[in-house]
Amino acid sequence: MQKTTYGNVIAYTFAPQSIPRVCHTIYAVKSEKSLTIIDPSSEAMVEEIKKDDDVDVNRLENIIISHYHGDHISGIARLPKSTVWGSEHYAETLAKSWPPSTLELVKPSVDLKYGIQYNLSGVPVRFYQGRGHTACGILTVIGDACIHTNDIIGFNDRGDPILPLIFDSAYEYHRTVQKILGFNLNIIVPHMQILDQTKIRTTLLIYRAYLEGILEYRERFDLKKFEEKQGVSFDYAMHHSKNLRHLGI
Ligand SMILES: [Zn+2]
Repeated sequence: MQKTTYGNVIAYTFAPQSIPRVCHTIYAVKSEKSLTIIDPSSEAMVEEIKKDDDVDVNRLENIIISHYHGDHISGIARLPKSTVWGSEHYAETLAKSWPPSTLELVKPSVDLKYGIQYNLSGVPVRFYQGRGHTACGILTVIGDACIHTNDIIGFNDRGDPILPLIFDSAYEYHRTVQKILGFNLNIIVPHMQILDQTKIRTTLLIYRAYLEGILEYRERFDLKKFEEKQGVSFDYAMHHSKNLRHLGI
């Protein structure tokens, strides 16, 4: 596990486990009185964080779920009961096989309103809709420091960008990419090892071009040629044909 601190935000990055070549980062946001966790990925990862003297999990008051894929919520059972912040569309993304007890744990406790400022025990936070990867994706702005993007952008453990994985809509994905680029904030990402802001922004521009390409050309879009032109090699490129089924227009 690798730990990086950005002001009051601590990133815990874990080597690939459940998904080949894909690291997981759990974020802990500290305030004087309390702790907020973003995306408790797995039980083992949460147990690792609990061992860190820098955070006191007994002070945990808020859990933010960026979207409801299993690798972003599975560790919640190992955390003290807290206020859960997440999209009202959570149930649409959760696999039907999740036991009802888990559903109860991850279900949002708040009827989340977008764009307004909440105070999470001393931490100013705003949420925005961040659809595209999933219909339940949210963007989380922490103070005036950073924005957490859910899985709108991700990199593998070698630093190669992962192809946008569209389970919702390419159209919505494009809107969300535009939204993220519009914030002049540090971008923090769930699947990445080192946060190079220039690389993240450049990759978002490539994502935008890819989304515009598939929305315009659909089956005629040539991914190989696109990669050559952009000087990029996407991991999880095999998802491209699935993306074409989720254009959302
Ligand atoms: Zn995801």
